[in-house]
Amino acid sequence: MEYRKLGKSGTFVSLLSFGSWVTYSNQVDTKLSEKLMSLAYERGVNFFDNAEVYAQGESEVIMGKSLKRLSWDRDTYMVSSKVFWGGKLPTQRGLNRKHLVEACHNALDRLQVEYLDLYFCHRPDPDTPMEEIVTTMNHLMAQGKIFYWGTSEWSADQIMEAHAVARDLRLVGPTMEQPQYNLFHRQKVEKDYKRVFETVGIGTTIWSPLASGILTGKYNKSIPKGSRMSLEDFSWLKDQLESEEGQDKVRKAIELEKLAQDIGLSLTQLSLSWCLLNPNVSTVILGASKTTQLEENLSSLECVDKITPEIIEKIEDIVQNCPVQEKDWKA
Ligand code: NDP
Repeated sequence: MEYRKLGKSGTFVSLLSFGSWVTYSNQVDTKLSEKLMSLAYERGVNFFDNAEVYAQGESEVIMGKSLKRLSWDRDTYMVSSKVFWGGKLPTQRGLNRKHLVEACHNALDRLQVEYLDLYFCHRPDPDTPMEEIVTTMNHLMAQGKIFYWGTSEWSADQIMEAHAVARDLRLVGPTMEQPQYNLFHRQKVEKDYKRVFETVGIGTTIWSPLASGILTGKYNKSIPKGSRMSLEDFSWLKDQLESEEGQDKVRKAIELEKLAQDIGLSLTQLSLSWCLLNPNVSTVILGASKTTQLEENLSSLECVDKITPEIIEKIEDIVQNCPVQEKDWKA
């Protein structure tokens, strides 16, 4: 396992990490969760991602039970929660002080841990002043309830504003952002955040590296029974898959799969290795509903060397979505 610095912080996160969104559809019970988590941990994964909204808290309960039974030393792993959608009531949502604090306490209870290593604002909240978010996150840090705070799917401007407010108040700004990043979704990580990386220097814990499975090739012909897109809870993802844009992704996945096979890789390995090559990615959060999937995904670490500049060019020819960078007028 390789470990990368999380932004400008002094902490090192494993390049591959493990997320529990799949428990959203009760695909993963405590027994399987324990199996997946221990496989990841044995291979050097030190970060386990979660959120208050996954299975309405049940995902954190399952991860908490697994952590208890696995009883790893607390200083050998990191665990996160994300706050935003805690319930339907106005007091249970958003990034206001009340919800940030209560959601943190609830996550600690569900995960059965004394502190969260990483605590993310799951989405931006235009109703809450940035000062309120920054001061509350710093308050939680001072209390030892969280170690680092971050954002998820915030714009570059919002992250820069959080840092400016933190600087004014002599407080700590967000250390990491959790954006979607994969061969079909590149704009934020490769273009929008450029100045954020160059100035305040955040780390990234990227999500859906396999575009919910499209980049494994499993949807090339149909929707397999039991797969994410076949589940009722994910009918919105199925709709996306069946849209014109979704079918274009499938066509590209078929082309990418042929390219992967030419160099002795699976499409999954090619797609994950491609993410690993980006130096602004601190960790790729893996999702898996089976140990065989997780095995394959973990093996992508050994495939990175096969993604040569020539292969990257061929990938670009297929995906045709390389973000156009700002013009350098001095060049
Ligand atoms: P992926 O895009 O990698 O999708 C994972 C899913 O793809 C698996 O659950 C499985 O689904 C399928 N899959 C994975 N590996 C294989 C394989 N080798 N062969 C065949 N199928 C495979 O990641 P996720 O979308 O799960 O995202 C990863 C993590 O990121 C989440 O667990 C969560 O922690 C985080 N996340 C954060 C978000 C945010 O807003 N901050 C949003 C979404 C996720 P199946 O078996 O069901 O077909």
